[in-house]
Amino acid sequence: MTAQTNTTNDVQLSLGETFPEIRELVRRICKDFPGSYWRTLDENQAYPTDFVGALTKAGLLSTLIPEVFGGLELPLSAASAILEEIHASGCNAGACHAQMYIMGTLLRHGNVAQKDMYLPDIASGKLRLQAFGVTEPTSGSDTTKLKTRAEKQGDHYIVSGQKVWTSRALQSDMMLLLARTTPLSEVKKKSDGLSVFLVDIRESLGKGMEIKPLRAMINHNTTEVFFDGLRVPAENLIGEEGKGFRYILDSMNAERILVASEAIGDGKWFVSKSTAYVNERVVFDQPIGRNQGIQFPIARAYAEIEAASLMVKKAAALFEAGKPCGAEANMAKMLASEASWHAAEAALQCHGGFGFASEYDIERKWRETRLFQVAPISTNLILAFLGEHVLGMPRSY
Ligand SMILES: Cc1cc2nc3c(=O)[nH]c(=O)nc-3n(C[C@H](O)[C@H](O)[C@H](O)COP(=O)(O)OP(=O)(O)OC[C@H]3O[C@@H](n4cnc5c(N)ncnc54)[C@H](O)[C@@H]3O)c2cc1C
Repeated sequence: MTAQTNTTNDVQLSLGETFPEIRELVRRICKDFPGSYWRTLDENQAYPTDFVGALTKAGLLSTLIPEVFGGLELPLSAASAILEEIHASGCNAGACHAQMYIMGTLLRHGNVAQKDMYLPDIASGKLRLQAFGVTEPTSGSDTTKLKTRAEKQGDHYIVSGQKVWTSRALQSDMMLLLARTTPLSEVKKKSDGLSVFLVDIRESLGKGMEIKPLRAMINHNTTEVFFDGLRVPAENLIGEEGKGFRYILDSMNAERILVASEAIGDGKWFVSKSTAYVNERVVFDQPIGRNQGIQFPIARAYAEIEAASLMVKKAAALFEAGKPCGAEANMAKMLASEASWHAAEAALQCHGGFGFASEYDIERKWRETRLFQVAPISTNLILAFLGEHVLGMPRSY
């Protein structure tokens, strides 16, 4: 811990509202996508094509891509601001947030040819890289035990196995895939022997790759992906074979910080909706907000959101400075997901029966924000990471 404190002394935090102009742009875009738009999609488990199109047109999904490849080349905190505003406006960025951060693995670890081939089209929105295949049905959070195998045969890898919860695979042109290239029994460290591939979904469907939609409690366009002898060109391997686990860690820290920002946005939306409702709803001849039993859970959630937001800013500042930020990214995700959940619970409770009526959007957002305590990493795994790697307690699993 001491070592990390020393290396972070020179990182500065700005406490004011970041990127006000970008936030204003996002709010303007989101105005065109009111609750009714999201409710219809939710009912049909449909993809928000128009919403994603509007964000793409405004260039917002290219935020993190360098200008030389046609992106906006803004820091992670700008992407944080965008996603927070989307969620604070009652919208949901789950349909496209991965387009922002998955390419981080390609950007940092891909070779020149791969970057030249893919990044400009990702920046323009012509190419969608928004599927990230890590989780598997049998190994779950124990990522290094994943069973999907990629075996080199000449100038191709042959991929067999299965992924689950691969979101947006049906709305993506490419997938970033984590697969084992050296059996677990043959590696020194269990995180060795995993490799990352860019899989072209368009060329692979029906040729050893099958995607099945997975209906879920929220509309997240998630899927199961089956690989049976899929041929992936060797040139689609990112970086060195066997080092894929560390390549995706960078993307995972960015993902946690960005998902935490979405949770902060949700929390703000819930607090704003709750405050407006309890000031207006009169029961027993007075606004229900006058009762401390109603007021305090909302006020507590507000305080938690403010505190979690500071951790998100700290994690983003460390990420941008190129400093270690695993602990902060994890804490940000955990604190923000809990704060947004407490705000969601307060909102559902203070709306009484109307909280359950779809037209208020409370129940939809309540379901949506619950995800953040499970994905992209569950709270227990974060606590286990902090216990072991930050506090030096024994590994519990
Ligand atoms: C809507 C949705 C979208 C998703 N999108 C993607 C995606 O795009 N790509 C992708 O790769 N994955 C995706 N995921 C998967 C997600 O990352 C995992 O569900 C999550 O990491 C938890 O893994 P698991 O479901 O296998 O749970 P498990 O690993 O089976 O864990 C189940 C529970 O046990 C707890 N647990 C497990 N081990 C321990 C331990 N040692 N100590 C204490 N508690 C423990 C966990 O915290 C959890 O609460 C998505 C999931 C959902 C629901």
